Amino acid sequence: MAFVAPVLPSLCSARGPLVRRAVRCLAAGLGLALATSGTALAQANFPERAVTMLVPFAAGGPTDVVARMIAVPMGKALGQTVLIENAVGAGGTIAAAKTARAQPNGYTIFLHHMGMSTAPYLYKKLQFDPLKDFEYIGQVVDVPMTLLARKDFPAASFAELQSYLKAQGNKVSLANAGLGAVSHLCGLLFMSQVGVDLTTVPFSGTGPAMNALLGGQVDLLCDQTTQTVPLIKDARVKVFGVTTLHRLSALPNVPTLDEQGLKGFEVKVWHGMYAPKGTPAPVLDKLSAALRVALQDPVVKQRLADLSSDIVPMDKVNAASLRAHLESELAKWGPVIKKAGIYAD
Ligand code: ASP
Repeated sequence: MAFVAPVLPSLCSARGPLVRRAVRCLAAGLGLALATSGTALAQANFPERAVTMLVPFAAGGPTDVVARMIAVPMGKALGQTVLIENAVGAGGTIAAAKTARAQPNGYTIFLHHMGMSTAPYLYKKLQFDPLKDFEYIGQVVDVPMTLLARKDFPAASFAELQSYLKAQGNKVSLANAGLGAVSHLCGLLFMSQVGVDLTTVPFSGTGPAMNALLGGQVDLLCDQTTQTVPLIKDARVKVFGVTTLHRLSALPNVPTLDEQGLKGFEVKVWHGMYAPKGTPAPVLDKLSAALRVALQDPVVKQRLADLSSDIVPMDKVNAASLRAHLESELAKWGPVIKKAGIYAD
């Protein structure tokens, strides 16, 4: 259709015998009509095959946990399987760029967190523009973070932790999921506010980073409750605080970093779902509707509540709301990142 439409007028007005012009014009018009109806038909029948959801971090990490949780009920609502593809690397920016380049037909969608609003300030050369290269399906869930240490870390309280870090400095390792990941951002804000410079160790996601923490290969990790609540409850890690300004119902005995002296320390990880720019509106509407069904699924609601994660109100699971939130977050994090002197690449 894209080819036929622009040449149609010239085919109809070209000089030559009337009959030949009429046949050419009719054929081109028919072609355009078929192509248009074919596109409209494809949109109306969407989805006719599996949909791929790109996840920008390694399997087993918090983003992957949310993705696999909602993929099943989304697939049921769409009538097609929603396949998860972990496209890792560069703090989630590789998957974002892959989404921006994908066919805008609804068969590639992307679940990412607030990294969409911090990456532009952390990377000089970003292979995508968060506000130009995507369509917006909807906001998803807000997830708090927790500051953890390996189980045998030699500090029993937040005060002892700060003293230890000031004494040991870069002998202490702080794991993260790469430049632009929220574990990276949380860790850097933590170091900036405590006034220490630790050795940061990047992984392809906080799934592998957590394995290293559990294995004692790294000392600290700031990670989302979607992965950490069960490990904290099973005392497999040490927890020093949560990154919300209020205590979490699932972890009532874990103080906030704010109440322990890091005044105003707040990182709550919002998530959005995206599609490539140009994905047709009827397709986006179906994807937003399926996401709303998934977020109202009783199993999903219960599991995310148990993990101290707040599903957004259903009136935020739409294009306008996600785009507005992304714009406000981009405006918010730029100054914070610059002020903290955080610069990745
Ligand atoms: N959410 C990422 C993951 O699932 C980790 C991060 O952004 O820090 O691995």
